[in-house]
Amino acid sequence: MKKSLYLYNTGSVKKEHFQPVNDPVNIYCCGPTVYNYAHIGNLRTYIFEDVLKRVLIACGYKVKHVVNITDVGHLVSDADTGEDKMEKGAAREGKTVWDIAEYYTGVFMQNINELNILDPDKWPKATEHISQMIDMIKTLEHKGYTYKTSDGIYFDTTKFENYCDFAKLDPEQLRAGERVDMGEKRAVTDFALWKFSPPDKKRQMEWQSPWGKGFPGWHIECSAMALAYLNQPVDIHCGGSDHIRVHHSNEIAQSEAATGKPFAKYWLHGEFLVMGKGKMAKSGGNFITLDALKKQDFSALDYRMFCYTAHYRTPLTFSWEGLRASAQSLSNLKKQIGALNENGAVNRKKVDEALSSFYDAICDDLNMPRAVAAIYEILRKEGLSDSEKRAAIEKADTVLGLNLTVGLEKAQYQVQSQGKLIKIVSESTLSDSIKDVLVKNAVQRKIAREEKNFALADGIRDLFSAAGVIVKDMPDGSTLCTVKNEKEAQVLLENKPEH
Ligand code: AMP
Ligand code: ZN
Repeated sequence: MKKSLYLYNTGSVKKEHFQPVNDPVNIYCCGPTVYNYAHIGNLRTYIFEDVLKRVLIACGYKVKHVVNITDVGHLVSDADTGEDKMEKGAAREGKTVWDIAEYYTGVFMQNINELNILDPDKWPKATEHISQMIDMIKTLEHKGYTYKTSDGIYFDTTKFENYCDFAKLDPEQLRAGERVDMGEKRAVTDFALWKFSPPDKKRQMEWQSPWGKGFPGWHIECSAMALAYLNQPVDIHCGGSDHIRVHHSNEIAQSEAATGKPFAKYWLHGEFLVMGKGKMAKSGGNFITLDALKKQDFSALDYRMFCYTAHYRTPLTFSWEGLRASAQSLSNLKKQIGALNENGAVNRKKVDEALSSFYDAICDDLNMPRAVAAIYEILRKEGLSDSEKRAAIEKADTVLGLNLTVGLEKAQYQVQSQGKLIKIVSESTLSDSIKDVLVKNAVQRKIAREEKNFALADGIRDLFSAAGVIVKDMPDGSTLCTVKNEKEAQVLLENKPEH
């Protein structure tokens, strides 16, 4: 049985009960233009799309997911003028366009990996689908949707009756915009399907076509690659909210004109990551990469956690303090989970019940701030054993993708000394000498408590806490020592007074 899922559809401007057309659910996401590093704003959008996919899987759906790589044709201006971003990137770095594309695609894939974003089923590159694009333009030409100017083949938006509907464009305002210079375009909303190579300049990327040597427009890439790999209509089409007005209106017009079918049933758009005066943007110069975060000792998953502080449809303002707070929350959360005793029996029904508010949150248009709050509720929940809490969180983490229970095992030790069970949890592996002294002190404290020598027991607890070690007496009679970091624990080792 599939779980009921509600998603906000930009097309209908409301939250809708998700009822896919295809099985598996077909998802198309507009991918990166690989002329520069992706910034953490771009990555916010891919994190939101990854959450969507993970939620669908958690709800019982199979998913077929395609994300394109734009390695040609994305011009600097949305008005089909200016340089190709790829050629501009190549000139900036004194490399070939192909080298630029390969390098930045590689870095992007690495970012995706570190952020724990699941790979799509297909990463089609625009440059490998030129013939599919030419075929689609031929179909559009045959159906009378195109016209030719001196610099390319254009889509005539006045022939596509509902062009303004998707982005709720105001035709009056658009007509006013037509007073600005739009070259040979007949309407301001018309867009290039195929651009001719400039007569005076040799482009690095160009192809023969029925209309002359040139390269595809950016919008046709997505329509052609979506058609190549997915059914029409696709179930969900995603992107950042900057794509609604032009790119997605254009994708809809050309796809629907070419196939005669609706292009996508649900449209989901992620809001911007904002910094300083506005949207984080490569062109604005106000952008931060994942690498820059790592140089400040943050992990990619700290950033993923930060993204969960806002719903995907609200703008999120980036700040280093905000990121630090999220990194701290993630670390605390992992510590609390690491301290759970995982050896007890698990009642699956209780685990599912404990997860109900988590599922309510994710099925309510991917409400991740509420989903994270639900994890804290699970940790506090009475009547749920440690093992059940851990099982519930492990399941929730298939959606959160925060590796909440990964890596804890490697730094968990369980030691018997003088008949006392001591467990040690640490964020990293510990040296034997620190483990020995931790165990020795923990055992002494335990004996002191049994002998009601509370002064000594408390003295040892203070010593631990000064060294960054949290001591907890567990219901199973063991003592749990959680080590924040090895360096601080070293202080304990070096300055240990004799008891
Ligand atoms: P691009 O590589 O520029 O084509 O953008 C890749 C994705 O990032 C697209 O879905 C954009 O809509 C999205 N995007 C661009 N800037 C931001 C931002 N500041 N915050 C969130 N998403 C963004
Ligand atoms: Zn697209």
